[in-house]
Amino acid sequence: MSTIRHSTLSTATLGVPRIGPRRELKLALERYWSGESSQSALMEAASALRIANWARQKALGIRVIPSNDFSLYDHMLDLACMVGAIPDRFGWDGGPVTLDTYFAMARGRLGGKTDDCGCATSHADQAGVPALEMTKWFDTNYHYMVPEFERGQEFRLATLKPLDQFLEARELGYQTRPVLVGPVTFLKLGKARDGSFEPLALIGDLLPAYIDMLRRLHANGAEWVQIDEPCLALDLTEAEATVLRQTYQAIARALPGLKIMLTTYFGGLGANIDTAFGLPVAGLHIDLARAPDQLDRVLAKAPRGLVLSLGIIDGRNIWRADLGAILDRLEPVVARRGTDHIQIAPSCSLLHVPVDLVQERDLDPDLVNWLAFSVQKMEELAILGRALCEGRAAVGEAIAASAAALAARRISPKVHDAAVAARLATVTPAMASRASAFAIRAGKQRRRFGLPAFPTTTIGSFPQTAEVRKARSAHAKGTIDQAAYDGFLREETERAVRWQEEIGLDVLVHGEFERNDMVQYFGEQLAGFAFTRHGWVQSYGSRCVRPPILFGDVARPTPITVGWWRYAQSLTTRPMKGMLTGPVTILNWSFVRDDVPRSQACRQIALAIRDEVSDLEQAGAAMIQIDEAALREGLPLRRAEWPAYLDWAVECFRLCASGVGDETQIHTHMCYSEFNDIIDAIAAMDADVISIETSRSRMELLDAFRTFQYPNEIGPGVYDIHSPRVPAVAEMVDLLKLARRRLADEQIWINPDCGLKTRGWAEVRPALVNMVEAARQMRLAA
Ligand code: GLN
Ligand code: ZN
Repeated sequence: MSTIRHSTLSTATLGVPRIGPRRELKLALERYWSGESSQSALMEAASALRIANWARQKALGIRVIPSNDFSLYDHMLDLACMVGAIPDRFGWDGGPVTLDTYFAMARGRLGGKTDDCGCATSHADQAGVPALEMTKWFDTNYHYMVPEFERGQEFRLATLKPLDQFLEARELGYQTRPVLVGPVTFLKLGKARDGSFEPLALIGDLLPAYIDMLRRLHANGAEWVQIDEPCLALDLTEAEATVLRQTYQAIARALPGLKIMLTTYFGGLGANIDTAFGLPVAGLHIDLARAPDQLDRVLAKAPRGLVLSLGIIDGRNIWRADLGAILDRLEPVVARRGTDHIQIAPSCSLLHVPVDLVQERDLDPDLVNWLAFSVQKMEELAILGRALCEGRAAVGEAIAASAAALAARRISPKVHDAAVAARLATVTPAMASRASAFAIRAGKQRRRFGLPAFPTTTIGSFPQTAEVRKARSAHAKGTIDQAAYDGFLREETERAVRWQEEIGLDVLVHGEFERNDMVQYFGEQLAGFAFTRHGWVQSYGSRCVRPPILFGDVARPTPITVGWWRYAQSLTTRPMKGMLTGPVTILNWSFVRDDVPRSQACRQIALAIRDEVSDLEQAGAAMIQIDEAALREGLPLRRAEWPAYLDWAVECFRLCASGVGDETQIHTHMCYSEFNDIIDAIAAMDADVISIETSRSRMELLDAFRTFQYPNEIGPGVYDIHSPRVPAVAEMVDLLKLARRRLADEQIWINPDCGLKTRGWAEVRPALVNMVEAARQMRLAA
């Protein structure tokens, strides 16, 4: 096959990171929000980022370059603004959508105070204008603003951003392929403000505005437009499939000359394959990283004239590609279909990977050799494009380098630890089961602790104040030494412990002052994880995260938390919870290995945490909390795959939690979660106590537990930690009364919704004093 000679084969990207190699967008936004810089300075910074992205792609040899993939905050928000879906509360006058309106939708409006709590929601204070809701974009850690629609919603073209950015690129000499979120995905991911109708019912009203934009793009010289319909990777109903068909027929009728590259990603087409191929579009992009096996079916079904965009570079992970293996698969396809009807691309937008590996000067050079960030992925794409046109020999060196890197990774002792493999082989089902059933454990634990009814506790972290962060960064920079830093942390911890005793909390925490982040802190002390310096990925708006890279077998060389726990417990006679992050959460918030199944990587982490649990128990910890904030987040996009995921996720939690005696109480915590459809898995985790976030749902989330007759103990959050507002005693008592309607008194604990790290002490102090008082009143009333 290496004899094929073709003039061109299009390499395309579906979108690239917006934040800039040094988080320039974040800095520009924050400067603008704080009033330090002007609107024009922000616009200039944004334009510079776009220009750099276009230039970089061109220089790297990408032929099909997108425009409008850039966003100041979020691409779903951009589309909502474009079609004028701006809820009344933002006071939009129907004219051009100002930056002020745009950012109010993103962040809420009130005396400049918006909350930046790091959780998956955005909030403004009660009295202000709340932002649009925010939620996860499919199964990524990117969060989009949820469009909000009202009954009789009107749409009309209110911003021209896609056109403006297309023209901006053209001015500079780039003929781009503008990208828009598809109308069906846009509506499906939105919500009716009052929940009274299906947003998809608005498709007929939305389309004229949407088509208006397509027409303008076409009229201004856009030959192709990329329309993203990742909803094709979800389970679709027949009605939804019909809406898709009608939508694209309407677009084709209105604009017969415009070529649409319809993209799907984050999974295979699955049962939607016929729907996808029935749409009147000129091109279809498929994800071959997540769903490599769909290639044959797709090739068999694809009409001859259709341009197939093959997403063969993984846009969701950071591993260097196996170029030889990709070519083995693509060469016959290109030979059969010809280069005119094939494009190659990353599986999805490169938004979900860091910008450029070249910046990582401190990473182990071996690891660097195995990785590819956005820039490197585009280089790989260009190499593949050349190999497919000119033959492999033209890029022989690059292909050999890829093969050598992969071969080295496959056998590297940095990746493979025989002891870990051996230990994994000895795991028995019994290791994932507590010795006795909950009822027996609960009795023993009750006798051991002698806690009052409705015991009070908190979720773990206390305010990460400016001083705490300052001390951490001084320690990282080396301006204060280990002893000084430890001394500082001990003082903070002691103050927090003394204060908890003083206000009368029943079960204490040490405050987590020593932790930068609930996953990073553990990753840094486990073998098998690496951390980048600049490997930022956008989480939402200006917020970026640097996911750990899980590259090798996981082991725990030494205890991680025991020292801090022992110190904290030494300060008090009340129970001090040991505080750990669970294996599923560590896995779900990291870039993970692609050479072992996720379940296996998770089991390794579970064994490491199990050792930590056991060391804590041995040191005397009687209560150990294992947080699984991200358990639900890991659910696959398609329902059929849920049971398999939940099986191993729950097993991993149990594996790390079950090595303790009956008298040791295992807690877990899960925030921002719905429980209805996973309640049996939650019950199967068999934690003695689970704390959850219930205040904003006014305890409705407990219905799932009641219906299931969930037997173990539960701490339903009694106040919203995302808001700076201090809850009154009566409010919490009211919520607890609602909880009592759904749970037995013996089951109920009292705690806030989540950790308090994003709050200030000025709010935390009165809030927890009130919470303890609410508990006292409950006990009197019981
Ligand atoms: N123990 C952690 C804390 O309090 C839990 C945070 C979380 O689940 N998001 O901060
Ligand atoms: Zn939480």
